[in-house]
Order: sequence, then structure tokens, then C-alpha cells
Amino acid sequence: MFNIAITLKIHSVLSLHPFVNTLLDWYPQHKRDLPWRNTKDPYIIWLSEIILQQTRVAQGLPYFLRFAENYPKVENLAHAPSEEVMRLWQGLGYYSRARNLHECAKMVVDEFGGNFPENYKELLQLKGVGTYTAAAIASFAFGQTVAVVDGNVFRVLSRYFGISTDIASPAGKREFEDLANMLIPDEFPGTFNQAIMEFGALQCTPKSPDCSECPLRTGCIAFREKKVAELPVKIKKLKIRERYFKYAHITCGDFIVVKKRGEGDIWQGLFDFPMAEIADKSQLKEYLPDFVSELKKLGTLNVEKSSHTYKHILTHQRIFANFVMFVIDPSQIKQLNDWTKASGFQLVESYKLEALGKPRLILKYLNDEK
Ligand code: SF4
Repeated sequence: MFNIAITLKIHSVLSLHPFVNTLLDWYPQHKRDLPWRNTKDPYIIWLSEIILQQTRVAQGLPYFLRFAENYPKVENLAHAPSEEVMRLWQGLGYYSRARNLHECAKMVVDEFGGNFPENYKELLQLKGVGTYTAAAIASFAFGQTVAVVDGNVFRVLSRYFGISTDIASPAGKREFEDLANMLIPDEFPGTFNQAIMEFGALQCTPKSPDCSECPLRTGCIAFREKKVAELPVKIKKLKIRERYFKYAHITCGDFIVVKKRGEGDIWQGLFDFPMAEIADKSQLKEYLPDFVSELKKLGTLNVEKSSHTYKHILTHQRIFANFVMFVIDPSQIKQLNDWTKASGFQLVESYKLEALGKPRLILKYLNDEK
């Protein structure tokens, strides 16, 4: 690292580092034409960055277009009902991002008069805006010399400069941020940031980098030392938790019972069904939640059928879910309504379910039931 820093300092006095020059040449010829690339509007840049976090461009693009069309200005998003925002986000996962997106839009309107702050430090005060997003907005929209460091940047830098520090460690993160901030040219900070990220996404990809056609090949240490597949180094410490959900799909005539997920758990703000979480996976199929006995007191209750067990994978959790369907006689609608209210559930007309934001697991089940 010491040698790299000295080399970079000498280059910054004389000219741009060849790494920088090559990327700046490569970028205009190869960049993808994406709708957020041709603007300096901080709102559009912020929107695209939040939507694309942990999401591939192909998956995120339709969501970006939908949000930009429905909410062309930050004020439109700030004033939208939260259920509408969650519904538009439905299927993209990581729902805390959608809640932060909405909170951040309100913050920009209420506290900054509808204008995004123009510098990196102030941008960091916004809800859901971390160092990466703040650097992206500051450099793309306001021309500030702040390097973005995302997974693509880690990969390109670690391979080209042959750095094997763990990118998941705080020390590793600092080392790569320092290096990127030494490289970034004052004249073209936004273009450089976009170029290195695009290079990582298209050329120096995780599994099959195109080294034979790479314009950085002659200076690339990983290529020279045959360490491309080993870099970057990322030591995973992810603990996966398994959870077992038993859902009750309760209908009564044209109505269905739903539950809005509350704070402090996955899917906050989305709608699923009354559910009990159990500890033993082997009992999932046979188990009936305690509230079923209360339902039985209401009168006629037909246990229609039980679904197969669904497996739903989230970043830190693996969810196994089984659904059992109950059909209540329409003559019991009033009693059912009283019960749902008392139990913290909601009785809604079935056609309205479509418009409610739901986790992907519930969508999958409903699709199978069609
Ligand atoms: S030579 Fe290969 S590893 Fe090195 S920068 Fe190019 S694509 Fe990446």
C-alpha cells in the first residue's frame, strides 16, 4: 500500500495515473445507456442509487422507471401515501430501503426546502443515505471530488493493484476508500466514479472477467500474478437464521383476513396473513395456530386444504412457510369482523388485496392458488 500511495502521489503531480486515463478512455465507448446517466438532477440520481443497491440493473430498471414516472419530483414522492410507495416497491425485496426512500424524500422536502444538500457531509444526514450513495450524488450531481466505493470498485482496485486486504473488514474498507480518493481526478470526479463502476460491471466481472481484451491488462497485478480468481478477498461472517411460519388464509364470502406487518421484523408495512411462528420445522405441516380455536367458536369453519411448504430465502434468514386455508360461512361475517379487529388483523374485500403491498412469499402463494 505504501508503494502504491507514493506512485499515485508522483502521478498526481505529473499527470493522471494510467489506470485513470485508461478508464476515462474506455467509459464513453462502452457505457450502457441508462436513464439516470444523462442527468445531473440529484433526485433522479438518488432514486436510481437507492433502487439499485443490492439489485441488478436488469431487475431495478423497471422499478426506477415506475418510480420516476409516478413521482417525477421529490415532492411527489414525499407526499405519496406510504402504502402506494410500498406497493410500487413490491417484489424488489429489502423493504427497509423503500421505507427509508420515502422518509428521505419527506426529509428533503421538510428540512431542505425540496433541494438535496449539495455536499457529501450534508448528504450523509439524509435517511438511508450512506457513504456510497452520498459520494455518488455529490460527484454525479454536484461535481465534488469524492470517490464511490461499491463492490465493483473493490474488485477492480483489488485486482489491478494486487491488494488482498479483506474488503469486509473496516481496515480494508478504509484502505480501498483512501486509494480511490487518491486516484479520483478533480476535473472529472463523476465520470471517473461511473467509469470504474461500469468497468467492474461489464469488463472486470466477478466470475468471468474479460482479461484477454482488457485495456488495463498490462498494468494489472492480479493478471500478471495469476491471482484474478482470488481477488478481492471477502471473509463472510453471515449467520443464516431459519424460521417456520404457519399461515392461515381465511376467507368469508368476498372478504379475506390480512395482517399488516408491524415494526421490528421483516416486511414492516407490508401485508400478509394471520400467522404463528413455531420453533420446530417437523411440525409445520400439521400445526394449527392457537387462534384457530377462537375462529372455531365463530361457527361454521371448513378447513379446506393445506399447501406445500414454501422456502423463501432472504439475506440473513431462510423462511419455511406452510399455508392452511379456512373458509368461513358468510353468515358469520359480523362475528369474523369483530374477531379480526380484536386480534389485530384486518378484514378486507378480496379484490383490494391486489392493491396492497405484499412480500414475495405471499405473492408466490397467491399465484399458485389462482
Ligand atoms: S486484466 Fe482482468 S483482472 Fe485485471 S483489470 Fe482487466 S479484467 Fe480485471
